Amino acid sequence: MALDEFGTVLRARRLVRTVNPTTIPVPLGAYLEEAGAVLREQTDLGPDEPGFSFSGKGKHFICVNANDRLERQRFTVCHELAHIVLGLPSDHNALPWWSYAKRPLAEILCDVFAAELLLPCNLFERIVEESSVSLATVDALATRFLASVTATGSRFAWIVSTPCAFVLSEQGRVRYASRSKALRDANAWIPPRTDLPDGSLSERVRAGGSPPREEVDAALWFTDWERGGVLLEEARYLAQWDQTLTLLWFESEEVPQIKRDAGDYRWAHEGREDAEPRREDEEEFGLQELDGNLRWPSKKRRG
Ligand SMILES: [Zn+2]
Repeated sequence: MALDEFGTVLRARRLVRTVNPTTIPVPLGAYLEEAGAVLREQTDLGPDEPGFSFSGKGKHFICVNANDRLERQRFTVCHELAHIVLGLPSDHNALPWWSYAKRPLAEILCDVFAAELLLPCNLFERIVEESSVSLATVDALATRFLASVTATGSRFAWIVSTPCAFVLSEQGRVRYASRSKALRDANAWIPPRTDLPDGSLSERVRAGGSPPREEVDAALWFTDWERGGVLLEEARYLAQWDQTLTLLWFESEEVPQIKRDAGDYRWAHEGREDAEPRREDEEEFGLQELDGNLRWPSKKRRG
């Protein structure tokens, strides 16, 4: 059976359930033990070599670049655990490790798996609901869980009850958007592989110099959006990788209702939902919604 995102998430959650971590940040030792893997910290790997794994004599060995930041090392370990548990060969030489643009499917699945291990639902969800929505919160959670900001942001938006989206863009184009259930249910669609919206805060932050947060019409971000409403938009530009992180949310905590005073709009809308090919597109990219860029280089490189 070909592995897909769903199967990957199930396998990861099975491992999480077995290990049942209760402390934050989640200790990795029990995951390694459960998978029959031995960790080796190496100091002789180059700055673009986060790690790899191999098997021999009935054991699995995971080598991690000990020069990387701790959060990155932890991600590498979990990513390699995925290769072992899922039986997926690693394909690490294809492209720059940090780029989303053409990452092979197996690698994306291993990232999904890793995010499940680092940010387990049962621990993460409760804390998310106690927090306010902001990039500062995502930062704080990432620090607390020793996970990357992008992975944490992606899972934050997926889980939070506030209508919220976390968008990762690369080279000014949307790579994926992770949306909370409230936005998914409302078909608040942010299409991947499109340019950042004209005039959006994110676009301007990328161009340099803008306030970090402002109000924006929801229709600027959501395709065919007819519910109106004003979002809060926060954006951060990461020049080193030409990546933009965007957090969008309805401060009111509610998605605006569909306007019923526009004749037979409601019926038209319902018909449209049925006919929409969008959901399939969404399935295709759902995988990346769970991904979260954990391919984070260390800030301090020692060559
Ligand atoms: Zn890999």
